[in-house]
Amino acid sequence: MTTGSTGTATTDSNGEHVTEEQVAMASVGSNWAGNLAYGARDVAAPSSVDELAELLQGAGPFRPLGTRHAFNEIADTTGTLVSTANLPEIVEIDADRRTVRVSAAIRYGDLAPRLASAGWALANLASLPHISVAGAVATGTHGSGDKVGSLASAVAGLELIDTDGRRHELRRGDPDFDGAVVSLGALGVVTEVELDIEPAFEVAQTVYEGLDWNEVLGDLDAVTSLGYSVSLFTSWRSADRIDQLWVKHRTDHEERDVPFVRATRPRHPLEGISAEHTTEQLGVAGAWFDRLPHFRLDFTPSNGEELQSEYLVPREHAAAALEAVRGLADRIAPLIHVTEIRTVAADELWLSSAYGTGAVGIHFTWRPVQPAVEAFLPTLEAALEPFGARPHWGKLFTMPGERMPQLYPRWHDFAALRGRFDPRGALRNPFLERLGL
Ligand SMILES: Cc1cc2nc3c(=O)[nH]c(=O)nc-3n(C[C@H](O)[C@H](O)[C@H](O)COP(=O)(O)OP(=O)(O)OC[C@H]3O[C@@H](n4cnc5c(N)ncnc54)[C@H](O)[C@@H]3O)c2cc1C
Repeated sequence: MTTGSTGTATTDSNGEHVTEEQVAMASVGSNWAGNLAYGARDVAAPSSVDELAELLQGAGPFRPLGTRHAFNEIADTTGTLVSTANLPEIVEIDADRRTVRVSAAIRYGDLAPRLASAGWALANLASLPHISVAGAVATGTHGSGDKVGSLASAVAGLELIDTDGRRHELRRGDPDFDGAVVSLGALGVVTEVELDIEPAFEVAQTVYEGLDWNEVLGDLDAVTSLGYSVSLFTSWRSADRIDQLWVKHRTDHEERDVPFVRATRPRHPLEGISAEHTTEQLGVAGAWFDRLPHFRLDFTPSNGEELQSEYLVPREHAAAALEAVRGLADRIAPLIHVTEIRTVAADELWLSSAYGTGAVGIHFTWRPVQPAVEAFLPTLEAALEPFGARPHWGKLFTMPGERMPQLYPRWHDFAALRGRFDPRGALRNPFLERLGL
């Protein structure tokens, strides 16, 4: 087992050589955005499931840790951060069942090319490939697509170890499964995830510029259905114009005519950043994993100096919710790098932001001015409240826990599930307590 709180040593406590990546993982350190220094005492990275089970039977508190991309304290603890990155790597494709079984810590960016080289694909990816499968799934991370669910909706099964060291194998259709996928890391440490796969496909990505807000809101469905995966980006510099529309078209699907002005050179969604960081555009077809994320694995995603929030509203309220946000454009503009609007298909996962309804995600990549952002969030949340907006679990939000049972019909069932899997409360942290869990 590798443990430690700080340090840059190249040997571990047993005198064995460790890579720089392993050292970084073993340090308590901070999250990717650097806005949160974890309050944990140490990091544990067991190298076998038995070792993990033994660790979890101890007192705690613990929190599972992925690739540290969450912007809030969801993964934090005063005790031990538990990483699964040292567990043996697994990528096992089952062609008959159309699934792949993977180790929890694998990053989508490492998994995807391996799947592709075997002729397979995942239905969707987030904007960045740098995140771990278990960490993404635990927060309901999603990409975009009217007919494509969140990354969590592709989970067909998972294996986790609870805080009594018991191993649970949950499969789609099992009674606890729908509660256990988007888990907020509150049920145990996931060790393996089984994901749905489909035959590999190609995607061509094209950016369009300078859309009229009124025209888009007049028929939002017409815009979001222009491709397999569609994103709108705006910096709110103008309350009348949306800066960019990204359309990712599957080459095995019928192509739609897009009635907007096509960009003539590659674009980054954020002003002033080189398009070199982004996946290829200008309609050049390429492998699914090289087009579905906006950002390339070997470059910093997004801006790097940023914070994020996102609220997902049921599709039927999306245009009205966006109008409400537009009414705050003057307040948003000084705080923001960019807003992204995406769609997510409905699922049945209890804590998913698309539970029971197709959803539209209204995302904010803020400048790194956390006090000002957090002072503004209650205003934004109040504007979105009439539309049943659900917060992204891995991003900044200030909504009180009392609101959650109204937003998530299975909230109390999840609270009961958490109590069953973690009766000692060893995985609880201030984030979960704020939510009433
Ligand atoms: C630049 C950037 C772009 C992003 N783009 C998107 C996007 O396109 N779409 C979107 O929806 N989100 C996006 N996010 C948010 C991000 O996907 C989520 O915060 C995600 O949870 C990060 O995964 P992680 O592996 O870094 O998890 P961490 O931040 O390490 O942990 C997040 C949660 O997962 C839990 N967890 C981690 N590993 C395990 C495990 N093995 N078992 C049980 N629980 C576990 C943790 O306890 C914690 O609750 C983005 C974030 C960044 C920084």
